[in-house]
This record gives sequence, structure tokens and C-alpha cells, in this order.
Amino acid sequence: MKKIAVYPGSFDPITNGHIDIIERGLRIFDELVVLVAYNPNKASLFTVQERMDLIHEVLKESVHDWERVRVDSFAGLLVDYARNTGAGVILRGLRAVSDFEYEFQMALINRRLNRDVETVFLMTGYKWFYTSSNLIKEAASLGGSVRGLVPDLIHRKLQEKFAKK
Ligand code: ADP
Repeated sequence: MKKIAVYPGSFDPITNGHIDIIERGLRIFDELVVLVAYNPNKASLFTVQERMDLIHEVLKESVHDWERVRVDSFAGLLVDYARNTGAGVILRGLRAVSDFEYEFQMALINRRLNRDVETVFLMTGYKWFYTSSNLIKEAASLGGSVRGLVPDLIHRKLQEKFAKK
């Protein structure tokens, strides 16, 4: 049986921290689904389609085993998506202490909703400890360079987005 894990997030946009989790997840699981989980009522910088396209392009460019990664989007209950995909694991990355409480709650509610799905956490790579899509957007919107924290393609796309605003 193939071990499939779903890696959900907003990925608005994908950062080097996310890529690190994907690469390491591929060492553990046979297949990864990077899931752009979105809330239609929540504002985002990139559309769901843009985020998916960017994830695709970035993975092709920088992840050796990208053929084992699928990119999808979903607005419903995560455990339902996992069940329908045959995924037994939800993969999440953990950064600072501040991530912990929220992630703990999410893991517990998801387990309550479906006991067959386990949440697995990977500790962030130390280089990406303070990298979050939100901080990246904030810095880029004020003209700060986020080179090195995101792939070059994302850096360019952020510059384009904020030049238009
Ligand atoms: P963010 O919290 O940056 O907006 P997402 O909602 O897209 O990111 O996060 C998806 C998952 O990836 C979450 O489990 C989050 O903790 C994890 N993640 C995000 N950034 C990093 C990082 N720099 N290192 C490790 N995991 C991360």
C-alpha cells in the first residue's frame, strides 16, 4: 500500500520553508498532495489557481522527486479530503512556540473528526524558523528583499504584484 500524505496550507505564496517540509516529507511518504486549502471568504494575495501554478513550477524547478507530488485545492473539511484521496496522514510543519497551540488544536479536532487520519509534524529547518508567507508578504509589500527566503520565481511574482498595487 502506498503511503500518501496531505500537506495542507494556504501557500500564499509558497516559501523555502514549505519546500523544505515537502522535500523531507518525500523521504517518509510515497506520495504527497500539496493542498491549497482555502476559505473563499478570506482575502489572499494570490488566487488559488495562481498559488497552485506557482507551487507546480517551483517544485519542478527545485525538488528532485517532484513527480511524487500532486498539487490540488480544496475548501472543505480536511479529513474528508484525506479520506477521499486515500491519505492516512496530514503533514504539517512546526516553527516557533507560537505555531504549537494552534497546530495542537487542529491535530486534536481532526483526530476527533476521523480517527483513521494521523497528523505528523516535521520540525522546521533552522534556516526557515522565522519564514512565514505573511511576513514575506509584509516585507515585500514595503519594498524589502525576501530573496533567499522564497524561490526566485516567487520573489519576482511578489515584486510584480506589489508594483501593480
Ligand atoms: P503560513 O503559516 O506561512 O501562512 P501555511 O498556512 O501555508 O503557511 O502553512 C502550511 C503548513 O506549512 C503549516 O503546517 C505551517 O506550519 C507550515 N510552514 C509554513 N512555513 C514554514 C516554515 N518556514 N518551516 C516549516 N513549516 C512551515
